[in-house]
Amino acid sequence: MMSIFTDQEKIKMLQDLVQIKTVNSNEEEAAKYIAKLLLDHGIESYGVKYDEGRVSLVADVKGQDFGKLLVLSGHTDVVSEGDENLWTYDPYGAQIVEGKMYGRGTTDMKAGLMALVIAMIELKEEGADFNGTIRLAATIGEEIGMYGSKQLSEEGHLNGADGFIIGEPSGMDSIIYAHKGSLQYEIHSYGKSAHSSMPHLGIDALQLLVDYINLSNEKFQEAFAKGTNEHLGDTLNINTVINGGAQINSVAEKVVMKGNARTVPEVDNQVVLDCINQAINEINAKGKGKLELNILQNNYYAISEADNTLIQALQEASPVENVQPIAISGATDASNFGRISANYDLAIYGPGSLSLAHVVDEYVEVQEYLDFINIYKKAIKEYLAI
Ligand SMILES: [Zn+2]
Repeated sequence: MMSIFTDQEKIKMLQDLVQIKTVNSNEEEAAKYIAKLLLDHGIESYGVKYDEGRVSLVADVKGQDFGKLLVLSGHTDVVSEGDENLWTYDPYGAQIVEGKMYGRGTTDMKAGLMALVIAMIELKEEGADFNGTIRLAATIGEEIGMYGSKQLSEEGHLNGADGFIIGEPSGMDSIIYAHKGSLQYEIHSYGKSAHSSMPHLGIDALQLLVDYINLSNEKFQEAFAKGTNEHLGDTLNINTVINGGAQINSVAEKVVMKGNARTVPEVDNQVVLDCINQAINEINAKGKGKLELNILQNNYYAISEADNTLIQALQEASPVENVQPIAISGATDASNFGRISANYDLAIYGPGSLSLAHVVDEYVEVQEYLDFINIYKKAIKEYLAI
């Protein structure tokens, strides 16, 4: 395959991106780096500012004629490196040892993002024949809040998109066509403290929360039984963290619980929220103590056909024989992209492995990264074929 860049140049560009520290912030620096790279090859881009230092990037390469709009997307933020002393290699060094590039964000997902950027530049520079538009969407804040994809979707930057390739780490053997939604929330329980020998003088926030747990579980059970998705299974809710009370001989004045629901289209985020709110309202109506809901993240499911034309194009472009379309539980920026239109082709396919995301000594196989550039180029041409 024709190539504008040498392998060494492609590797250096990924190293540059990994070396820009974008832990849940500072994505503007990464956006500027990519914008400069694009401009060096005649591709204009524009930034979409979310907050100080936080800018998503959008850029188009247009084909000969009108046709499909294919969005190539990756997030520029990474999660924290944690305790740096636990790392064998500098988490922002992008050091290559025995074919593996180490560093925070190598797998999740700067390799996927840079592979998409390079594919886009090379197709443009090669004067590739295709119809339609290739649009890069480099998003901020995917790891916490999915702010970039939410903003790009709500402000209309991706309107009319027919397909999305998201370069999250799937490895070469499988392509993700669907994932569950994720609702993260807190229930705040307010009571009134009193000495534990005279509990009638107080209001027990802990007991109030126990009542909530029992009542909400009844409602969840009933609501969740109303639908199963053939690809994603059932909606689930699990209460994961509980904190509260002050000391052993006092009635608890405040208790906070965290919960996480994983949702499917048949029983979506709103159904879960309705159950929670009904349980809260019924308990609050008794007039003893008070419960409040605080939503932390509300990410929707994303779902496409397992054999959509974008997945077919990627399967054909991949050197792997039988790339399997799969559905997963974890959410991605597709949670927001999927709400733009009812029918779209989704393919989450990129270098690296989910098991290496967010871990100490995160790495990506350099050869896999290079291979994905060629997979993307072939698949994009096929999807936007004349
Ligand atoms: Zn990611």
